[in-house]
Amino acid sequence: MIKKERIGIVGAGIAGLATAVRLASRGHEVDVFEANAYPGGKLSAFELKGYRFDAGPSLFTMPAYVDELFRLAGEAPEQHFQYRRLPIVCHYFWEDGTKLLAHAGIAEFAQEVEAQLGVPAAKVEAALAESERKHDLSGKIFLNKSLHRLSTWTNWEALRAMIRIPTLDLFTSMNAVNEKQLQHPKLVQLFNRFATYNGSNPYKVPGLLNIIPYFEHKVGAYLPKGGMHAITQSIFELAQRRGVRFHFEHPVDRILVENKRAVGLEIGEQRHAFDRVISNMDVFFTYKKLLADQAPPERTLRQPKSTSALIFYWGIEQQFEQLGLHNIFFSNDYRDEFAHLERGSVSEDQTIYIDITQKYEAEDAPPGCENWFTMVNVPHHSGQDWDALIDRTRRQVIAKVSRILHRDIRPLIACEEILDPRSIERKTSSHLGALYGTSSNKRMAAFLRHANFKRNIQHLYFCGGSVHPGGGIPLCLLSAKIVDELIHENL
Ligand SMILES: Cc1cc2nc3c(=O)[nH]c(=O)nc-3n(C[C@H](O)[C@H](O)[C@H](O)COP(=O)(O)OP(=O)(O)OC[C@H]3O[C@@H](n4cnc5c(N)ncnc54)[C@H](O)[C@@H]3O)c2cc1C
Repeated sequence: MIKKERIGIVGAGIAGLATAVRLASRGHEVDVFEANAYPGGKLSAFELKGYRFDAGPSLFTMPAYVDELFRLAGEAPEQHFQYRRLPIVCHYFWEDGTKLLAHAGIAEFAQEVEAQLGVPAAKVEAALAESERKHDLSGKIFLNKSLHRLSTWTNWEALRAMIRIPTLDLFTSMNAVNEKQLQHPKLVQLFNRFATYNGSNPYKVPGLLNIIPYFEHKVGAYLPKGGMHAITQSIFELAQRRGVRFHFEHPVDRILVENKRAVGLEIGEQRHAFDRVISNMDVFFTYKKLLADQAPPERTLRQPKSTSALIFYWGIEQQFEQLGLHNIFFSNDYRDEFAHLERGSVSEDQTIYIDITQKYEAEDAPPGCENWFTMVNVPHHSGQDWDALIDRTRRQVIAKVSRILHRDIRPLIACEEILDPRSIERKTSSHLGALYGTSSNKRMAAFLRHANFKRNIQHLYFCGGSVHPGGGIPLCLLSAKIVDELIHENL
């Protein structure tokens, strides 16, 4: 029998929600304090003039991590959370008229590449097999466990990965690996794009990150029934059924520390005592605001941030047969696009991503219309003139999409909402509006991310995209699992 404790969680982002479910399922008494009036943080949704939009994430992989939460709580996941595997993971478009459908199935995808780009199917199959090999060797070590515990490194699996490090392309960039393997510039661009899945730069990030296509093509890309927000909503409702208490519009002001141990939370005039505290707030602001009287780990907090995003949520008064759920309109010069991001600027020919959930969820837009989540990668906030950049990028996006679709989309935009790095920071307390916490571009980035616990303050833990193992829904869910394991090793 483990001791039942009172546990306070700061933030109801996806990692905070998952941690709450795990701990409540073990019988602990859990309170979650959330600054916003709603759960989910970046993974939230809103409605605009009859259109429904997922506000942040649009690509969903590893649904098993969500299912696991229901099973832990003794419930059948399919009764509360349903999803479908996408037969086509992305529709790719280039300005010269080339189009490519990325089928989920590896053989079909490879055949499509051969048909559209003239690259032998075997090359694509080999690249995806290599992606799987890298995942099998490194995934369990780098993603599923705390990197800051000796036990992670003292076992056969870790030894096997260490011996194979020279074959994991840690010292070569993703782009260099892709150029060598795939050669065709469009195919290289397509595979380089996977770096953006965690806000990285393919010309800098190590080739180890080529494990990402494994997730999309082998494990699969999915869409929850009801859209991405169903992930938040179903886990939130599960947490409530497990007795977790939620306190919305309760921004935490301070983590109370006594004798090098976290003992509670301060919210306004009120103090709440807890046996353990978990922060799902961005680790930068956790230190700067909630632990202002503790010495911060400056080197960790100074790590460069991932990219951010500029999003135009558009209600479009037409349906486009040539588009699917995920659509990419590539730039002509990918290297220049990332060089701009590195400099903190935005290229005038930025790759555009359009996500349209209405393709599967008919009620997400009025009849005959589509809900476009139109996004370009932009640098994190460092004082840019965002209003001018938004104005210029909006014109560029409309012109490029209109050229490729052979239809002026400007008059079709029935309503609009905009999200930029400033509003991302404001809405979710994410430092500089970075989507995925610290950047993964550096070879040692995984080790420079903040751990899920704090060595010199007992009973204080961290989950979410700004700490190990990193940003993105699957990794945030894994951070919850690691925190749960750390607490129960301790108990
Ligand atoms: C535009 C966009 C697109 C993305 N696309 C994808 C994608 O396609 N696929 C994918 O997997 N990931 C994607 N991501 C990344 C993904 O959304 C994040 O990694 C993940 O949702 C982060 O979850 P989190 O648990 O770290 O918390 P967050 O979502 O950052 O939420 C933190 C919560 O803590 C609350 N909080 C902060 N401070 C306090 C305080 N002092 N007191 C109380 N509450 C507080 C905030 O209000 C917020 O609700 C995207 C993100 C964005 C913004």
